[in-house]
Amino acid sequence: MNYKKAKCQHCNNETLMEVRDINKIEQGNPSSDDYCYDMQVVLFCPTCHNYNIINAYWDNTYGKKNEIEQYEEIYGLDCVEESIIFPVPSNLISQKSDLVPKNILHNLEKAYELKNIDEESCLVKLRKTLEIICNDKNANGPDLYHKIANLSERGILPNTLNSASTITRKLGNIGAHEDFIDISSVDLKIVIELVEYIIQYIYVLPKEIERLESKFLN
Ligand SMILES: [Zn+2]
Repeated sequence: MNYKKAKCQHCNNETLMEVRDINKIEQGNPSSDDYCYDMQVVLFCPTCHNYNIINAYWDNTYGKKNEIEQYEEIYGLDCVEESIIFPVPSNLISQKSDLVPKNILHNLEKAYELKNIDEESCLVKLRKTLEIICNDKNANGPDLYHKIANLSERGILPNTLNSASTITRKLGNIGAHEDFIDISSVDLKIVIELVEYIIQYIYVLPKEIERLESKFLN
């Protein structure tokens, strides 16, 4: 059995994972300069019993890196470029990060890391994310719920987001009361998605549209 040290994207533990399967796709002749390969490696996390799939890419610009022992068994001493293909990473964090203010992205990333470990801390990070957005957009109101409503009234967020008011109301209550926060993983996923949509709507979409328009006019 092969093992590879990696950070589990489900439980966030950095641990030795079992290599359950490897699929190598090669292009070109191994003796030629244009030879390259992609290798999909299925890893099993011993901590949370979930699968992670990584892709390892190599071409001759990557060279060899003998001193890294963890690559030895799987990549045959090659220094590769690894990317995660499962679980599917947040598009916002992986691809749009340059469009979103750093502190907002940082809190969202933390929320992702915590979602399978500590639901309440995850919700606290999500609330923090929304609070930073509200401050950034000078939202008026005594609490998070009213501030989000204020952003809707001013057209910064769409009115349709009012349907999410119960979620922001709940988020606002965390920490304010001693109540035990009981949230299912499905509900937590919905809250994360909602916060992502808010970020997309305020920070990503306007810039993406601007980019497309400038392309169109040129
Ligand atoms: Zn895990």
